[in-house]
Amino acid sequence: MSTELSGSTALVTGGTSGIGRATAIALAGLGAHVVLSGRDAGRGAEVVSAIREAGGKADFVAADLTDAASAKALADRAREVGGHVDVLVNNAGIFPTGPTASLTEADFDRVYTTNVKVPFFLVAELAPEMAARGHGAIVNVSTMVATRGMTGMALYGSSKASVELLTKAWAAEFGPSGVRVNAVSPGPTRTEGTAVFGDGLDELASAGPAGRVAAPSEIAAAIAFLVADKASFIQGAILPVDGGRLAV
Ligand code: NAP
Repeated sequence: MSTELSGSTALVTGGTSGIGRATAIALAGLGAHVVLSGRDAGRGAEVVSAIREAGGKADFVAADLTDAASAKALADRAREVGGHVDVLVNNAGIFPTGPTASLTEADFDRVYTTNVKVPFFLVAELAPEMAARGHGAIVNVSTMVATRGMTGMALYGSSKASVELLTKAWAAEFGPSGVRVNAVSPGPTRTEGTAVFGDGLDELASAGPAGRVAAPSEIAAAIAFLVADKASFIQGAILPVDGGRLAV
């Protein structure tokens, strides 16, 4: 196990599945104490066991992230468990797709609450403390459809476009105090959450230079790079991790 992040506590939201699970494992492998959150306690326990069996340190915190109060409660629990939070990965997200006219006001509110409001209030809770300690790293998980205008992706893509602007605004706000804020922009990635898309995911991926869907570990590797000191001069960046899809 590497020691790059030893002494650090990393909060990974949505760490029970897909990209978040792989990120929790990757950060624990760098020596971080990982606090992973999600709603599904069974899946949370499984990720914690996998990390501990590999010699890492992890705890699960159950959190249904539905508003600013639930974001604050998660930050409080993460501090209790980890002592302090040095790294925040805003990964938990939902991605309903479909024609604009088919989506309801409830869909709109759910997407913007999970994808924008909760990350906003988690950063509001945790970044000032990182700034007071003079160091910290935040990575927001966006998507290639925050940049590409694609049919059926208006609601989801617009929520993540907001996250990308927040990434830059937070880099400006907290960067001078030693807190680096960046984002990854994944392409289609095989996860529990994208299983419903079936072959559609492969079709989406086939248009890019890599011509294939990503494994969650490939996105996690980029997140792990961005939070570690080797990325010390990278701030406010949106890193495409999409097999080149945004480039062509
Ligand atoms: P996933 O397999 O569906 O996992 C989503 C995670 O978010 C789960 O751990 C889930 O936890 C958590 N979550 C969702 N709603 C929540 C809520 N209300 N409260 C608390 N936790 C909640 O998703 P994924 O494919 O790994 O995607 C992860 C992130 O990457 C998302 O932000 C997504 O937009 C982004 N992304 C994914 C892809 C892709 O192709 N997979 C591409 C680009 C970007 P529980 O189920 O335990 O509650």
